[in-house]
Amino acid sequence: MTERKPYVGGNWKMNTNRNSSADLTRGVVDGLLNVDGVEAAVFPPFPYLLLVRSILRDRGSLVKLGAQDVYFEPDGAFTGEVSIAMLKDCGVQVVLTGHSERRHVINEPEELVNFKTRAVLEGGLECILCVGETLAQREAGHQDIVCSRQVKTGLAEVPGDHLERLTIAYEPVWAIGTGKTATPEDAQASHAHIRELLQHLYGAERANKVRIQYGGSLKPGNAPEIFAKPDVDGGLVGGASLKAADFVSIVKAAAASARAK
Ligand code: PEP
Repeated sequence: MTERKPYVGGNWKMNTNRNSSADLTRGVVDGLLNVDGVEAAVFPPFPYLLLVRSILRDRGSLVKLGAQDVYFEPDGAFTGEVSIAMLKDCGVQVVLTGHSERRHVINEPEELVNFKTRAVLEGGLECILCVGETLAQREAGHQDIVCSRQVKTGLAEVPGDHLERLTIAYEPVWAIGTGKTATPEDAQASHAHIRELLQHLYGAERANKVRIQYGGSLKPGNAPEIFAKPDVDGGLVGGASLKAADFVSIVKAAAASARAK
């Protein structure tokens, strides 16, 4: 039995509005009542954080409130950016860093991913650091090199005692929003590679406690076989997290996988 409790995040990206984010939150909360042995988080767009928080609170839900991004500076002249303190003020518990859309669409450099990751962890919040190779990098057989580099640079100067608030999401870029999924074997191979690197960087005891989520076109139909793999500790879900029933079913699949491991 693994000691890592599976963890599933729903990344809503730039979707929903006030009504639909409230409906989606209620659907997730109701669907996950009495589901245990798993942690779940939702990542609404910034404008709906307080709304989602109030629904989670009113219903006494254990679903965590997440933010899709943050800026690393504490305050000042950074137009359009949002600080750790602001997120905490809104009840945020967990922040995504290094999501592939920020790396490859917004062109966020690896150094900035590192600054953000450090700031989130130093600020006492949980961080989900996303890594993953592009299609060209996988076709060239470079997935391990790319993931190693992204993990190493993302975690540069992160002390070992901050690892307890860290989750890594392995999200092959070619599988995000494309309907293509890594095979369970490919996912396991990349997760095992990332865990070995963490063991090398931080020692086995700390590394073995870090959860590594899989992300990339997860659906209720493909989640169980991917979650069954020993180093897959849940997932980060984009498209399917916009339907409460699908997200709930994926979270339940993660809970079931942990019982079987
Ligand atoms: C994501 O946004 O992290 C993601 C994995 O998206 P999708 O599930 O839509 O591929």
